[in-house]
Amino acid sequence: MSKPDGDPRSQLPAVAALLEDARVARMAEQYSRPIVLDAIRRALEECRVAVMSGGGAADFDATVALVKTTLARDDLQRPRRVINGTGIVLHTGLGRAVLPQCAVDALGELNGCCNLQIDLESGQRGKRNYATERLLCKLTGAEAAVVVNNNAAATFLILSALCKGQEVVVSRGQLIEIGGSFRLPDCIHESGATLVEVGTTNKTHLRDYEQALSANTAALLRVNPSNYRIAGFVKDVPIADLVSLKKKQPVLVIDDLGCGALVDLGPFGLPHEPTVPDSVAAGADLVCFSGDKLIGGPQSGIIVGKRDPIARIKKHPLNRMLRVCKMTDVALERTLRLFLQPESLPEKHPTFHMLTASVDALKRRAKSIKRRVEKVRRDLVLRVASADSEVGGGSLPGTLLPSYVLALSAPSLPANQLSARLRRQEPPIIGRIANDEVLLDLRTILEQEDAQVAQVLTDLDVSGART
Ligand SMILES: *Cc1c(COP(=O)(O)O)cnc(C)c1O
Repeated sequence: MSKPDGDPRSQLPAVAALLEDARVARMAEQYSRPIVLDAIRRALEECRVAVMSGGGAADFDATVALVKTTLARDDLQRPRRVINGTGIVLHTGLGRAVLPQCAVDALGELNGCCNLQIDLESGQRGKRNYATERLLCKLTGAEAAVVVNNNAAATFLILSALCKGQEVVVSRGQLIEIGGSFRLPDCIHESGATLVEVGTTNKTHLRDYEQALSANTAALLRVNPSNYRIAGFVKDVPIADLVSLKKKQPVLVIDDLGCGALVDLGPFGLPHEPTVPDSVAAGADLVCFSGDKLIGGPQSGIIVGKRDPIARIKKHPLNRMLRVCKMTDVALERTLRLFLQPESLPEKHPTFHMLTASVDALKRRAKSIKRRVEKVRRDLVLRVASADSEVGGGSLPGTLLPSYVLALSAPSLPANQLSARLRRQEPPIIGRIANDEVLLDLRTILEQEDAQVAQVLTDLDVSGART
């Protein structure tokens, strides 16, 4: 369509002319021609919108510059390793658990085909996730196990397979919302089960559950307040008491433990968290939890429990839709193996390593980085300060772990801009802002990343030009 003379849109550079420009040609070498072509189209679209809303037409050089920033912006969206200086050990936005080295190595070794679903002994079709499930039984005392995509999926699968068309009783104090619009009442509704609420926000008694039992009750569902705490005048019913109601009526007792502590955290100097083996021993029919919270493995949801309900879950069509891939299976299996020797966890398991790191060690690392950077530059101000880290990822809410941070400031740059520049480095560093300083918490930075942090801080441009 031809445009009237004087229409500023007609003054936009042509795609062909841009492609011939030497600077754009270099971009095509770096990013590939189809990617650059796409960026040109989007940059021109942006110029067109600007013109339509009354701005002047961008000249040729400005358009080339816009193509370049479009490409850089896109490149930043690609998945990559970042340094977690937030102090949140299980940061959902940063991919939750850092995988143990043995799991990372196993992923590399999987480069080829694998025995995902073939029995090497007989050569026949084998059972998917078999070794992982056996290990889960061994570690939890359960009779059987299933692994799916995440714990939200695990909850939905249990309810869909075993409670559809029937009632599920839940305490009003446990009707949780987890990030990403997962709300338990909606999940129950979508599964085809009917939610029966009992008790109050702060107190629910065993008699509340008992009175709610009807001929149509399929299950009593307990949910661990793993991402919130109700404190004060509170009461909830232990899983063993819920199990005692099975004598009155054969209902399922389901425990959604969320963060999935496989071992008692007390000996690691952490607050008590109900463990999976405890729930199994108390007689829960099914216990579900995430694989990437306190287990510290890949994103996954785990269900352990009695043989019969697990067998029914495995036969349900949703199980096929929610199953995990070979990479998840192998990474989870290797991670779980570390729990066979709990005493080795602080050394070999990154999440336990971070959670148990001594304050003195963190302080020493912070000071060492500060010294290395200060040797070279004075225009970035570094301070070593004490601070608190969080567990995060819906685990141990309210627990603050004493830690040390590097507090950064630059006279020429407000903290939010300093923070934005740190995110654009290679590797990007993510911190948190407090009192116009960027804080990098040593508890969540891996020791092997210290040198990179020092390097990035040494090279960082902190000049006052606005970004
Ligand atoms: C975290 C959590 C979930 C959701 O688990 P995802 O693995 O993130 O899907 C469900 N229930 C509870 C109690 C949780 O803490």
